[in-house]
Amino acid sequence: MPWIQENIPLAPFTTLGIGGPARYLAEISEESHVVDALAFAHGRSLPVFVLGGGSNILVADEGFPGLVLRIRVRGIRSADGDRPGIATVGAGEDWDTFVLWCVQRNWAGVECLSGIPGTAGGTPIQNVGAYGEEASEVILTVRAFDRSLQAFVELGNGACGFSYRSSVFNTSQRDRYIVLSVTYSLRVGGEPRIHYPDLQRYFTGKPETPSLGAVREAVRAVRASKAMLLVPGDPDCRSAGSFFKNPVVSEEDFLRITEAARSHQCMREGESLPRFRAPAGRVKVPAAWLIERAGFRKGYARGRAGLSTKHTLALVNRGGATAMEVLELMGEIQQRVYETFSVELTPEPVLVGFPGNQ
Ligand SMILES: Cc1cc2nc3c(=O)[nH]c(=O)nc-3n(C[C@H](O)[C@H](O)[C@H](O)COP(=O)(O)OP(=O)(O)OC[C@H]3O[C@@H](n4cnc5c(N)ncnc54)[C@H](O)[C@@H]3O)c2cc1C
Repeated sequence: MPWIQENIPLAPFTTLGIGGPARYLAEISEESHVVDALAFAHGRSLPVFVLGGGSNILVADEGFPGLVLRIRVRGIRSADGDRPGIATVGAGEDWDTFVLWCVQRNWAGVECLSGIPGTAGGTPIQNVGAYGEEASEVILTVRAFDRSLQAFVELGNGACGFSYRSSVFNTSQRDRYIVLSVTYSLRVGGEPRIHYPDLQRYFTGKPETPSLGAVREAVRAVRASKAMLLVPGDPDCRSAGSFFKNPVVSEEDFLRITEAARSHQCMREGESLPRFRAPAGRVKVPAAWLIERAGFRKGYARGRAGLSTKHTLALVNRGGATAMEVLELMGEIQQRVYETFSVELTPEPVLVGFPGNQ
């Protein structure tokens, strides 16, 4: 199979720019390639990893000892006239290109997800979200190859089991599905959502409701100020975005964390612990706040790995960092946050090629 290559460095396919080679790599530009590539891996008893835009992974220094399927299926198709606002997007399509496509048509629902790197196929995996919107709110169906049934399947929104940074794709059914396209349902002519404090501040004093395009620009500007927008040449962008999920806790645990913050003198007089509402009466606590108050400042360096100079939640490759160095920094942060607040931070990026994670 000419489209399967051997010993291909993976670092250039990741936003962290870290990781050794893939034993084999297959570029999947057509759905049918998946079947042949999986047969190739099966025949050689190779593990398989599905790669999108590489913006949410940390690849081991040793690389991946199996077959990497790099999903390149492209195309954005809108449904026929009787179903306005519906679009089916190839899993390998750049996500932000699709967001722009929607904004230009005045279709609301993804404008706050502007500037998130990666592919459309990556959006259902961890149910990407930002600035008050989540992919799960607009995903209608996901077309995938089901490795258990050995068949192409279509999953409705309910079957995807979406919650905060989670779906069946990264939990109970991990590694089962290879997403090939996603159908989104947008609100034609809908109003933008400006619920998030950063966005509300951006538009303070501006009289009329901003257009979807204005919200897209605002989101990108806010993201750029936090190095959460990929800007070529900016070393703060050699990251996987937020490295930890925001802990979602009970009201009782929230009070306990507040108490711990007070007793460790992590809060100023009159200050309260920041909180966001989460489903089922739970509370989302910003991981960045916990990291900062546990004693890490922006730009903190540990060898060639470090924290972004603009955001404590982004671990960056300061230049030539190894995966092991990033893991050591991750461990240091987790330990100090745990010692200070008794909160376990869960990493967001997927670990690839590490023992136990293949
Ligand atoms: C600067 C920066 C900012 C970010 N900001 C945000 C943010 O605001 N919100 C947010 O939620 N995320 C954010 N991220 C994380 C990341 O961009 C998203 O999670 C994105 O959806 C990952 O898509 P990807 O195509 O790059 O997936 P990859 O990184 O290639 O893969 C991630 C996981 O998804 C799986 N996967 C990818 N494609 C497929 C497929 N077609 N079929 C099956 N499995 C697949 C992989 O196997 C892997 O397990 C950010 C990352 C960076 C670098």
